Amino acid sequence: MQHRIRGAAELARFVTPTDDEARAIAALSERFRFVITPYYASLMDPADPECPVRKQVVPRLAELGDPHGLADPLDEVAHSPVKNVVRVYEDRIAFCVNNECALYCRYCLRKRMVGDEEWTMKRAELQVALDWIRATPAIRDVLLTGGDPLVFSDERLEWLIRELRAIPHVEIVRLGTRFPVTLPMRVTPELCEMLQRYHPIWVNTHFNHPKELTPEAARACDLLTRAGIPVGNQSVLLAGVNDDIATMKALCEGLVRMRVRPYYVYQAQLLEGTGHFRVPIERGVELFRALRGRTSGFAIPQYVLDTPYGKVPLDYPFLKGREGDYVVMESFDGRVWRELNPA
Ligand code: SF4
Repeated sequence: MQHRIRGAAELARFVTPTDDEARAIAALSERFRFVITPYYASLMDPADPECPVRKQVVPRLAELGDPHGLADPLDEVAHSPVKNVVRVYEDRIAFCVNNECALYCRYCLRKRMVGDEEWTMKRAELQVALDWIRATPAIRDVLLTGGDPLVFSDERLEWLIRELRAIPHVEIVRLGTRFPVTLPMRVTPELCEMLQRYHPIWVNTHFNHPKELTPEAARACDLLTRAGIPVGNQSVLLAGVNDDIATMKALCEGLVRMRVRPYYVYQAQLLEGTGHFRVPIERGVELFRALRGRTSGFAIPQYVLDTPYGKVPLDYPFLKGREGDYVVMESFDGRVWRELNPA
């Protein structure tokens, strides 16, 4: 973590920044931190500014011109009963345990807070959040997120999970972490040994492109799954990164080979400075429709839009409706099937 890249000069060890990138790094440094791990930078194509790894983390001047972008499109602040606890659903919460990540993704939903000191969680503030969970019996599922919970040392993370496990109504602890993608060496046998003492633990990670499916990443996911931790993946649909069928199919099939379940693909939010990443929803629906029937069902993630009212599935309507005693549906390749289904 101490060797992370924080400026254009350090980035030049891996790629030659374009004029646009260099100017964007300088212009945006005060608004959203620019930090990349050397490991992740080593995956970038030094000759191609359109490299899908590079586009995710190196600033572009396009971030300065986004008329529709909002700071907090999901209204998370309004959904926070105590600092950094986001409650949209009755029975579960996102607990933003810190404000730091291994690197900062340019499209991050929480870019208003990641890397910003104001959102750090001191031990006393973590205690306030734990007290709130203790006093709220409806909460059965706690997602540790941030930032990224694996920024914590094993000891600090264990303290937090142990506190949660001591709350009788907390049935599941989930970790949302991009470390398997951005710094997979953080996933050690010692970390997994600690986590498996507190089952059921689930992990969701965040691969966006097949280039990220390296042997190091596969090893990190393998350590987690061998510890009995189900690992799922949540991508974001990003223009120029993974918004074509071949790339999404290769990503999902590669994840399955690593025993990581493609779980969600999020529609990119109306988030400030991210207009150049957004894909029209209709095109996203067509992309996931095209995967149906062309790869294993469990390799197809659910395409969703997160809203202040919760996640909304953006599924292609294969079910067309009723005709008398039949329901009418469309097969993956466009043929019509009528299934006898008396009312
Ligand atoms: S790792 Fe996740 S929380 Fe951190 S910057 Fe990337 S998207 Fe945001």
